[in-house]
Amino acid sequence: MAYDDSNIFARIIRGEIPCSTVYEDDHVLAFKDIQPQRRVHVLIIPKGHYVDMTDFSANASDAEIVAYTRAISRVAEKLGVAENGYRLITNTGVDGHQEVPHLHFHIVGGEPVGPMLKRT
Ligand code: AMP
Repeated sequence: MAYDDSNIFARIIRGEIPCSTVYEDDHVLAFKDIQPQRRVHVLIIPKGHYVDMTDFSANASDAEIVAYTRAISRVAEKLGVAENGYRLITNTGVDGHQEVPHLHFHIVGGEPVGPMLKRT
């Protein structure tokens, strides 16, 4: 899937729409989810144009991959969820129910997040 730079997270990176920033470095931005599903719900995105984790893991530079991975612990520490734990989610594509076509990890916690997926 080709990257569409009109998506909402691309617009946030460009500063066209506001966000509640939690963490930022040269390669990564983390901000609060607009519809939090738990007490803590933050999105961690690369600043580069990657549709999803498949695209990122295949095409991102080593520097981007290191920065993105390192950002997870920094954000978890900053949010105060590192000790008790959290869930990291990245939805990918149609079957993964991805709504915004720019790679993002949801970091959710601050309270028990509940069990893993169950077949309904
Ligand atoms: P996904 O279904 O994994 O693509 O999740 C997209 C997430 O982006 C949802 O949790 C939305 O609440 C969140 N979201 C959409 N627009 C914004 C925004 N402007 N600021 C913060 N979070 C947003």
